[in-house]
Amino acid sequence: MKVTFPHLGNAYIAIEALLQGLGHEPITPPLSTKRTIEWGSRYSPEDICLPFKTILGNMLEGIELGADSVYMLGGWGPCRLGYYAEIQRIILHDLGKKVKFVTLEVPRGNWRMARERLRHIFGPTRTRHFLRGCQLSWAKLRAVEQLEQRSLQARPLEKDHGSTSRLLETQLQKLRMAQNMKTISRIKAETDEALQDLAAATASHAVLRVGLVGEIYTVVESFVNLRLEERLGRLGVEVIRTISLTEWVEEHIFKNALGLYNQYELLRSSRGYLHSFVGGHGLESIARSVEMANAELDGIIHIFPLSCMPEIIAQGILPQLSADKKVPILSLVVDEHAGETGFQTRLEAFVDLLQRRCTYVRKEKSLSRC
Ligand code: SF4
Repeated sequence: MKVTFPHLGNAYIAIEALLQGLGHEPITPPLSTKRTIEWGSRYSPEDICLPFKTILGNMLEGIELGADSVYMLGGWGPCRLGYYAEIQRIILHDLGKKVKFVTLEVPRGNWRMARERLRHIFGPTRTRHFLRGCQLSWAKLRAVEQLEQRSLQARPLEKDHGSTSRLLETQLQKLRMAQNMKTISRIKAETDEALQDLAAATASHAVLRVGLVGEIYTVVESFVNLRLEERLGRLGVEVIRTISLTEWVEEHIFKNALGLYNQYELLRSSRGYLHSFVGGHGLESIARSVEMANAELDGIIHIFPLSCMPEIIAQGILPQLSADKKVPILSLVVDEHAGETGFQTRLEAFVDLLQRRCTYVRKEKSLSRC
């Protein structure tokens, strides 16, 4: 089968390896662009959240490249994610796209449909190939995160602006081509060394540390968040990401499917601010913000798509958290009309505030850094 799938940051590198292990031909849509959002928006309900429109655009671009099947993650309430896949399936059907739409989700009682989907997913594979695909895919996902993590640390220290992003892009493409674990390890080591070289020249200047929370798609998908992490890196900020794709797969997919997922730690961290799951990453946004404020980070950025219900709840709570914990928090909302100039101005103003605050705190407490 020629299978296409929506983008989620650089996860396509791991998804391709998994699909190959399953005996399918991955048809990776081009990385999201303005065209993707415009195409997706044209056929989406007008007031649906931005990830829905972008994901639908990815599907249409994948089908345009020749895909005969679409794989999409399912979900359940209380936010709109619960009905994303079903609406997208209907839209593609109404547009006359002759594709097999497979929703990957926990069966919840419908075993006949689950069997049919599993037959489609595992049909062409052999156990040995499948296991190898899983191993390679997982190793690639972990490596992608490690490379991105190292880049976040290196970017504010780079001498030549843009050099970290260029190196990251090159290494990610090497990782995409890697066919064994040894090559993956070599790429990770090579990237570490190269990033150290880029950072070494200016390693003495103070770097602000800002935590990033919010809706997972907006945090991870750099086109949708207007390359937020790169912009912050160029302003001398090290971004501390609180969302990890490997953790998300482990917690929200595997543990959830086995009934082992619990939110005890999150509820404990967010005590006094939020007492229950509100869908999406709303609870995580509050819990991680508390944790980062306690860890004395210089500031927190909260990003989410316009009309995202869980994050609107979080946005309403964050000002109180900011006042209690004395940590500056900036909430950013994006949609298909988000303009780069206004976005950049808000970031620069926020970073300027953090720098002034940092200088003041340093003087007051006679610290070498904040
Ligand atoms: S978390 Fe927000 S953006 Fe994501 S599906 Fe739910 S409402 Fe939409």
